Amino acid sequence: MVAAGIGVVVAVAGPALYLVQSWHAEQRELEVSARLHAAVIAQALQSPSELPWQQRVQGLLDHDLVPHTLPERRTLTDAAGSLVTGTAVATPGPALRAGAPLVAPGGAVGELTVTRSMRPVLAQTGAVALFSLGLAGAIFAVLRLLPLRMLQGALDTLHAQQARARRELEQYVHGVFEQSVDGILVCDGQGQVRSGNPRAAVLLGMPATALAGQPLSRWVALPADGPTAVGQHETQAFHGPTARAFPCELTLSRLPVRSGDARFVATLRDLTERRQAEQRMQRLANYDSLTGLPNRSLFRDRLGQAIERADRSGRPMALMFLDLDRFKTINDSLGHAAGDRLLQQVAATLSAALRGGDSVGRAGPAAEDAITVARLGGDEFTIIAEQLHEAADAWRIAERVQKALQTPILVGKHEIVVSTSVGITVYPDDNSPPDDLLRHADQAMYRAKEGGRDQALFFSAEMNDQAQHRLQLEAELRHALERGEFQLVYQPKADLQSGRVSGVEALLRWKRNGQTVTTPDVFIGVLEETGLILPVGRWVLEQATQQVCAWRRAGLPWVRVAVNLSARQLRQGDLVATVAQALEASGLPSAQLELELTESMLMGGDHQAALLHRLSALGVQLAIDDFGTGWSSLSYLKRFNVDTLKIDRSFVRDTPHDPEDNAITSAVIALARSLKLRVVAEGVETDAQRQFLLDNGCDEMQGYWLSRPLAPAAFEAWWRAHLARTAHDAAVTA
Ligand code: C2E
Ligand code: MG
Ligand code: MG
Repeated sequence: MVAAGIGVVVAVAGPALYLVQSWHAEQRELEVSARLHAAVIAQALQSPSELPWQQRVQGLLDHDLVPHTLPERRTLTDAAGSLVTGTAVATPGPALRAGAPLVAPGGAVGELTVTRSMRPVLAQTGAVALFSLGLAGAIFAVLRLLPLRMLQGALDTLHAQQARARRELEQYVHGVFEQSVDGILVCDGQGQVRSGNPRAAVLLGMPATALAGQPLSRWVALPADGPTAVGQHETQAFHGPTARAFPCELTLSRLPVRSGDARFVATLRDLTERRQAEQRMQRLANYDSLTGLPNRSLFRDRLGQAIERADRSGRPMALMFLDLDRFKTINDSLGHAAGDRLLQQVAATLSAALRGGDSVGRAGPAAEDAITVARLGGDEFTIIAEQLHEAADAWRIAERVQKALQTPILVGKHEIVVSTSVGITVYPDDNSPPDDLLRHADQAMYRAKEGGRDQALFFSAEMNDQAQHRLQLEAELRHALERGEFQLVYQPKADLQSGRVSGVEALLRWKRNGQTVTTPDVFIGVLEETGLILPVGRWVLEQATQQVCAWRRAGLPWVRVAVNLSARQLRQGDLVATVAQALEASGLPSAQLELELTESMLMGGDHQAALLHRLSALGVQLAIDDFGTGWSSLSYLKRFNVDTLKIDRSFVRDTPHDPEDNAITSAVIALARSLKLRVVAEGVETDAQRQFLLDNGCDEMQGYWLSRPLAPAAFEAWWRAHLARTAHDAAVTA
């Protein structure tokens, strides 16, 4: 429409404008020409001339005063309007005309008329019209065709872009298909595989081409509804060549195809690794990572189940609590890595002992099913033995376990013989809930340990009372220090040759509830287990050092005071700083302080060694207490700056009557002398013992023969008396 409109306007307006313009121009020219000619002729007529005026006028009329292109005729009429003369030019119509009056001095005498034929103008207008028509046609064509062209171009670009996008999408989809970490199988409605991606080929162990045309069910266990059961399913797939089944996640989805047969996509995800990870998690949650045995949490489950089975079958079930004897010592002396290896070996031995052999006294299912060995932590193991005939069967099982563990275990270079203490409780004789059963077995084990280790004990109600007592003890001990219930008593040591006091040992006492005085064997274990030994041990050091200084101030000579240390003080807390502080606070010269350690304490790792060196660097003396009862290793004695050996009183007790003890005691004395160590005999109660020790070269003695441990004031009195006596004796001998 617009194009047509513009075309019409161009076609009509062009010639019309041309015509109007030309018409006006000619008209104006005509008027000028008429007036000019009239003026010239009027002028000519006034001037005198020999020629007749008609001739002159004619000459002027013929003369073109205004240049023109159209044929122009000029005529002169008189006042009456009659033609006087004119040019002989033809002016065919249509023509334009213009007139001008011919003025003489007397007034108008005629009129000059100029006529022009417009026919050439019309002809030119026709040409212009033709040209305009062409132009309009061209404009119309351009306006009509250009947008179409552009549209076409845009359409083409769009199509090209679409094609490229489709190609990219196809490549992308193909890439996904080819490189997917999941196996992808495209199937038809009947569950026949049409194509499979490389991952599917790997998972199923078949070339991708071999998958096509086969039923999907050949490789994947399909859900009951077949391949059309759209959704996610956990199922199994089969590795073609090996026929190995593996867990997989199958996702079935319908492919949106417009025509023809329905299509399905089966996506296979191998769940093997996930399952393994889950199993690992499961193991971590339920099994002890060191030994691979069930851990505490799985043990609890098993115990609950065992109780239910015992209720159903009416056959008793035993719960045993095992604890390795002196494991802490092994751990401390050989290091944790060795301790760990020992625990692993013990776990293996336990499992082996309980697995094979005659299923001692057990009925019902296979031996393995009726036995659970678990590790609760540290060196604590438990055994659940089900389907027993009688409670005594549990005893036999415990015996077998203990016997199996008696075989020496090689840990690194060390051959270790472990012994175990076992506590047993039997359900339903002990008809308690699971937690209590465990506690009871633990108590029985504790008693077995107390009773000299390496034995098995059945739980009894009386043990429960004992355990209650122990708890009571612990509760009371927690407040004993702040209530000032601890005291130190002092037992002298004397030089065997001279009889002079050579030292004094500080021994801890607990005035329980402010009344009964309790000796350390009752409570020192609890202090160690609870860690209370750290503050109490510090108190002992402060107290003992201050006491010796107080005696010195009271005019008595310096005396070396021995303080007992427990293993925990060496392991935890800053012992060196504590000792240094006690020395500084009291003003006791460091050489007057002796620290008593037991043999096992020497056998810790490098940390312990460094600690002992720092202690002796302070200038304090180190003594080995209860020598002969622990893990004697001469190399340790040499390695650390040990000054004194204290022979345990169990060896001294039966001297001089027991030849064996005599031999041991004299050997220890000889050993100490050869290592240039001072040797002290503990527990000297009789003069015969004193004499024996003197004869065998022992340096010092300690024991009831000299004095029992005494409270500070009593000790001071004893000491003054002793000093007076020895001075007197010396004077007498002198
Ligand atoms: P120990 O260091 O071997 O101390 C010697 C023990 O033997 C003391 O027992 C003492 O009373 C006893 N005794 C001394 N002479 C004789 C004797 O002639 N015959 C008999 N039968 N016994 C004698 P006590 O005071 O009951 O101490 C027992 C253990 O408790 C000590 O053995 C020591 O290992 C520990 N102990 C005592 N005080 C402390 C302390 O402050 N800290 C630590 N960690 N342990 C301590
Ligand atoms: Mg001691
Ligand atoms: Mg001792």
